[in-house]
Amino acid sequence: MKILVTGAAGFIGSRYVRSMLAGEYAGYSDADVTVLDKLTYAGRRDNLPADHPRLAFVQGDVCDAEQLRELLPGHDAVVHFAAESHVDRSIDAGAAFVTANVLGTQSLLEACLHSDVSRFVHVSTDEVYGSIASGSWTEECPLAPNSPYAASKAGSDLVARSYWRTHGLDVSITRSCNNYGQHQHIEKLIPRFATHLLCGEPVPLYGQGANVRGWLHVADHCRAIQLVLTKGKAGEVYNVGGGNEMTNRQIAELLLELCGAGEEMIRYVPDRKGHDLRYSLDDSKIRQELGYAPEVSFAEGLAETVAWYRDEPGWWKPLTT
Ligand code: NAD
Repeated sequence: MKILVTGAAGFIGSRYVRSMLAGEYAGYSDADVTVLDKLTYAGRRDNLPADHPRLAFVQGDVCDAEQLRELLPGHDAVVHFAAESHVDRSIDAGAAFVTANVLGTQSLLEACLHSDVSRFVHVSTDEVYGSIASGSWTEECPLAPNSPYAASKAGSDLVARSYWRTHGLDVSITRSCNNYGQHQHIEKLIPRFATHLLCGEPVPLYGQGANVRGWLHVADHCRAIQLVLTKGKAGEVYNVGGGNEMTNRQIAELLLELCGAGEEMIRYVPDRKGHDLRYSLDDSKIRQELGYAPEVSFAEGLAETVAWYRDEPGWWKPLTT
């Protein structure tokens, strides 16, 4: 078994690869893994083992059709994480998101058609559904993305689906809620707040902090992706929730507590443009059909995450400059 994992120098992909190499996924303990990553500002080679007999690291762009055609033959499956992933950056400069997320996904799918790849998992997000005032999205809900990031991910989902429908490629799509855990770039909410507080600095909270998101520990997300890789059906979408819906204000309060800081450390800042108020996933499909259930409680996962950032300033301090 040989798997190509794109974007695995980033937060979620690196966790997935480390777990696979550590033998955490049944039936894959001897799988060879190739990582393809462009090493953008978000990717770090040191998120992966420096030297592992079953890991090959290739620096490259998922938009580079020629490189993909050379690299893909010999791989049985692709798990596609590579993307521009930060909403705020997409508001400032959306073109890179369309290129990496839409064109990159299409280039990768196209290259798969000309290789031995027989299975493809496209990692997507709940943000493609837009914002929901009440209730929860099932996989049948229409896509109504609001940020350029979400729109580029929705575009990539549709392109992925088309390669299944048109070409018969065995593609499944996952749509997860917000992830948290170690090795997440400090531009994202939980690590940004945790590292500010660990430095004794106030945290910038958008608007009134009323935006609601579901939260999922990265290890649970990676387990779900592995379930979809091994048991998911072609052409199907699987929502992946965490069972933890909270306002950003609630997250800030939990982080204040874990870092021993008071409410005065919250600074309210003008809201993000077009900020979606609420996301909520109905993930009963993956639970019922594939037997998924998150294992990490939010309290335990958040405490472990804050402890990691406290213990590893060498990983994130260079990102603050
Ligand atoms: P990340 O920003 O931490 O990592 C992205 C990785 O992709 C980086 O290593 C980067 O170098 C690489 N990359 C970017 N453009 C590339 C290109 N053109 N070619 C090759 N590599 C490229 O992102 P993440 O948080 O780990 O997210 C991974 C995937 O999961 C993304 O597709 C994202 O949309 C999705 N997702 C993320 C979350 C979340 O909460 N972080 C939730 C749901 C879905």
